[in-house]
Amino acid sequence: MTTKEAINRLNQLELQEFAYSHAMGILSYDDETVAPKGSVVPRGKTMGVLSELSYKLSTGDEAREILDALKEHYDELSPEDKRRADLRDKHMRELRAIPMEEYVAYSELLNEAGNVWREAKNKSDYKLFEPYLGKIIETQKRFAGLVRPDMDPYDYCLDQYEEGLTQEKCEAFFGTLRAHIVPLLEKIKAAKPIDAGFLSTLFPVEAQRELSKKVMAVEGLPEENCILGEVEHPFTTGFSKYDVRITTHYYEDAFLSSLYSVIHEGGHALYDLHSDDRFCFTSLEGGVSMGVHESQSRFYENIIGRSREFVGLIYPEIVRLCPALASHSEEELWRAANVAQPSLIRTEADELTYPLHIMVRYEMEKAMIRGDVKPADLPQMWNALYKEYLGIDVPDDKNGILQDSHWSGGGIGYFPSYALGSAYGAQLLAKMREDFDVREAVRSHQLIKVNNWLEDKIWKYGSLYKPAELMEKAFGAPFDPTYYTDYLERKFTEVYGL
Ligand code: ZN
Repeated sequence: MTTKEAINRLNQLELQEFAYSHAMGILSYDDETVAPKGSVVPRGKTMGVLSELSYKLSTGDEAREILDALKEHYDELSPEDKRRADLRDKHMRELRAIPMEEYVAYSELLNEAGNVWREAKNKSDYKLFEPYLGKIIETQKRFAGLVRPDMDPYDYCLDQYEEGLTQEKCEAFFGTLRAHIVPLLEKIKAAKPIDAGFLSTLFPVEAQRELSKKVMAVEGLPEENCILGEVEHPFTTGFSKYDVRITTHYYEDAFLSSLYSVIHEGGHALYDLHSDDRFCFTSLEGGVSMGVHESQSRFYENIIGRSREFVGLIYPEIVRLCPALASHSEEELWRAANVAQPSLIRTEADELTYPLHIMVRYEMEKAMIRGDVKPADLPQMWNALYKEYLGIDVPDDKNGILQDSHWSGGGIGYFPSYALGSAYGAQLLAKMREDFDVREAVRSHQLIKVNNWLEDKIWKYGSLYKPAELMEKAFGAPFDPTYYTDYLERKFTEVYGL
């Protein structure tokens, strides 16, 4: 096979892979948003069939021949095609290490586990979910051993979401964060409390839907390529740069919850929507890792969204849609949106205590994969860690171990990327400031400047570079978590007048 033939056949193969993952993604999105409960059985069958076909496609003779040819002509390949070959090689090794029946059985298990988790959460009954979580942990461990017997199993899990991330790096990173966050929280506890009671002012859902539309427009999300759905637990699914779905959940008595989830998911969407055109329907389209993805979503949610300037930008719309809030000033709203206080729910957590929620999950996952804790004892461990890290008591499993969907979807190793992404965001801000006045750009409704900068440094590259490589290019320096701790110290000193 010539190089040209290999690339043509690779394009064809990746288009077919795209089609399967597109179809399966639409089924999952449908499941999360509008599908009736009874749809679990047929969807499970369809998912089983499609994942089997997609497995065969990615590991079959054609895929193998193409990979062999790419390896043979490796030196003649463009940097883009080299990266595609490397990704394919890694993916192929992973898939071939896992027997097909196990791969298919796991995808069916996850489909069922998602539904059981929802029911367990609604009933606040961990016992329902426990056998599923037990099986998921066992399967993850088994897969890790099959694919990378040379690697620590939890390091393998971390690497799935952030290529190159290890427990050693996590320990150092979380150590730095804890050393700054804990004393800062102590100072805040001693400071004058901020009034945030008015945030529970009733804000009708219909009006919140309008606010979401406005915010999506301010953020620069094109209506023809991005829509907003309503779900229990907000997420983003990017099918291609032409079709990205974001979601939210409305609470009449907590409008900031939906507002900031829309801004967060919007950040994910912007990233997916701006891959370079030439990467369309190839393995290079879309975000490279969860850490980089979270750096974009959390950058938008916190660094931009919770800034004084952004709150000022949307304040007139907020009081137009909910006049009862007009008795509170822009300044009061900004402060209230930045209250730092240990709480129960990760997705509702403030910017400062958020990483502590991640550290709890990190400790849990490490123990699960090492087998240091039995599935039956996980809620107890969760509650004890919340007491230790956040100083709070967990009243029930719904507000405790069952609050997140990640584990039910097999996402063990995902959480640390949220904290890492937050830290990436702070270093990006420092770099962006060298090029223009970010505060002024937000204040003057010029978010396009922020978007253009991020597109140029991050978004357009899709998955072309490894995560750490991409970030170092954008930073013009190695990753340094003290940008993040400095940012947090500056910001909360300002918010609380410390
Ligand atoms: Zn996110």
